[in-house]
Order: sequence, then structure tokens, then C-alpha cells
Amino acid sequence: MTVREILARLVAFDTTSSRSNADLMDWVADYLDGWSMRVRLLPGLDSGKTNLIASIGPETADGIVLSSHSDTVPATAAGWDSDPYCLSMRDGRYYGRGTADMKGFLSVVLAAVPDLAKANLTKPVHIVVSHDEEVGCLGAPALIENLPEAGIVIVGEPTGMRVADRHRGACIQTMRIRGIPAHSGMPELGVNAVTHMAAFVRDLDGIATQLAMVDAPPDKQTNIVLTGISGGTAQNIVPESCDATWMIRCAANEDPAEIRLRLASKAEAAERRMKLENSCCEIDLDLLCDVPPLMPATDNVARDLCQDILNDDTTIGLEFATEAGLFQAAGLPVAVCGPGHMAQGHTVNEFIECGQLRKAEFFMEGMIEHVSQ
Ligand SMILES: [Zn+2]
Repeated sequence: MTVREILARLVAFDTTSSRSNADLMDWVADYLDGWSMRVRLLPGLDSGKTNLIASIGPETADGIVLSSHSDTVPATAAGWDSDPYCLSMRDGRYYGRGTADMKGFLSVVLAAVPDLAKANLTKPVHIVVSHDEEVGCLGAPALIENLPEAGIVIVGEPTGMRVADRHRGACIQTMRIRGIPAHSGMPELGVNAVTHMAAFVRDLDGIATQLAMVDAPPDKQTNIVLTGISGGTAQNIVPESCDATWMIRCAANEDPAEIRLRLASKAEAAERRMKLENSCCEIDLDLLCDVPPLMPATDNVARDLCQDILNDDTTIGLEFATEAGLFQAAGLPVAVCGPGHMAQGHTVNEFIECGQLRKAEFFMEGMIEHVSQ
């Protein structure tokens, strides 16, 4: 099958993170089975969610992992010029949900499998596909746990086929404030959760301002974005509870745990202030997901190999997080390199340029040359 044919098949599966990815994974597993790959479908976090690990070549520990995720963001917004789940080509671009992020890369990898099967491989190649990357890299930890020992990981998120060796992390925190409800005519009897949340948000903004380095390149900026806040039930009641959510995008050279400690100490201070008014008040701080940054490393054989194949000795840093941070945390050398651009990911009329897919095919040819005699 050609890259275009495979991409059309993959795009046709609606693998929005909120849905099951089983149909897509079954199709991919069948395809890989047909080329005698050693395929494992692993149960994911929830029912209907699957990770896939498929290997070819000798069973040695120096293999190359080619990593994709199966899920996409939703395509519910109005404004699509064509059906987001039906691949369409216009002006040298393939349109459809997931074309850039990141079914394009997976299609190129799958289309290269016949060549992998023919090659005399000296190292194994592992094709891995995770679930629920878009909602906090939820599938990758279990996938990494089951991964055979390997030498190099290449995550094919869209970099325009540049070599990325660093990116920001992403973690999502939520906070719930429990105050004391009262009639709003007698506010002195209650403790207003919304007012206390507002004070905490000012502290959070203060920390965000201290961390902001406006002129730095994207991967070196840390930002904290308040993404949701809700509280209160009626105009005549002092709000009992208030919830807030925020996203911390931590620079590649920054420790996200340190930032969370600073926020936690502000939350503790807020809780102490509330308890002075009423000892029953409470603040709960939760970490919903934590994707570590990809830290730049002096020695990185994954980066070196990608640069070698592409004949490009430069690197870039990414503003978005990927599963690469998790592979690195597991001790694996990792680089991010894939076709397309994230500027087109997560958007209406998402597309990938045909030229980007061709570049990725050329990259796969170089990769196969590297792992064969
Ligand atoms: Zn992605």
C-alpha cells in the first residue's frame, strides 16, 4: 500500500481521544502481521484502549523504536471544507483530522514495512503506537514498560522533518477550594471559596510572571495558563466551592516539580488563611497529568542518527510536549522528527504537505539503510 492509501485508511478511523482506538489498532496489527512482524496489542488504561508494539529483525537490545500515537483531537468545530475523516487532496496537501498529528508519520512508517521485511536487518526495528497522547500521554507509560530493550527512540510528531532534541513539558493541575456556604445577606457566617480562589489566582499569576522569559525561544519559556475556573451556585449564596485548572508548560531546562512546589506553598498559605476563618475549610491540589520536558543532552545517539540521515547538523526545540520526555525519563536516547507542522495540528482543515511525506519516506529509506547490511 502507498503512503496515501494507508493515510486514507488511518484518517477514516475516528480516533478522537474520548473514543476507542481498537478498530485502528486492529487494522494496523493485521497489516503488520501480514509482513511477519512480531505484533503485540496491549490493553490500555481503559477498556477499548490499546497500545501496540511490533518488532522486526533480530532480537537484540540495540533496536530503533519508531513511535506514534493513535489518537487525535476532536474535529467537531465548524469550518471544515471537507469531511475531516475522509482524506482529500488539494493543492499538494492532504487534508483530514490527524494528517499532521500524527497519522502522516505512522503511514510513512507502515508503508516502509515491506522494505523492512525485505532488508537484511542487523538491528531490530520496533513500531510502537500509543493511545491517549492528546489527553496527557496516558497510554505511553504502560507502552514503555512493555517495550523491549532498545537503543534509540524516534518520536514522529510533526517537526517539519527537522531534528528536535528538546521540548517543553506539560502538566495539568486542578485545585478545589471548599469554603463554608451561607446566605449572601450574612456573608460573615460563610467563607467564600470564589474569593479565596481569586486571591490564589493572583499568586499563580505572580509566579507565572516571574517565570516568563518573553524573548526566549519557545522551548526555553515556561508558562502557566489558567484554563478553567468555576464556582458558586446562586446569587444569594456565599459559594461553598470553587475549582480551577491550569496548565504548566515547563521549559526544557526547568524542573516542573520545583514549580509545583512553589504553587503548593501558595495553596497551603491560602488554606491557612481560610482555616483562620473556619477550620472546616479545605484546599485540594491534584496533578492530572505530568509529561516531563525533553531535556537537551550532549550525548544523544538518536539525535545524531536523525541528523546523519537528513544530512542536517542543526537541531530545534519544540514549544509542545511529546511522549519523548517519557522515553527519556525511562533512560532511552530520543529525538523528535516527523513530517508536517504542529501549526496545522489541532486546527480546522488540518493538513500535511505531500512534500513533507516524501521527505519522511526518504528518511525511512535512510533508516533502513542504517539498520541493514
Ligand atoms: Zn501528536
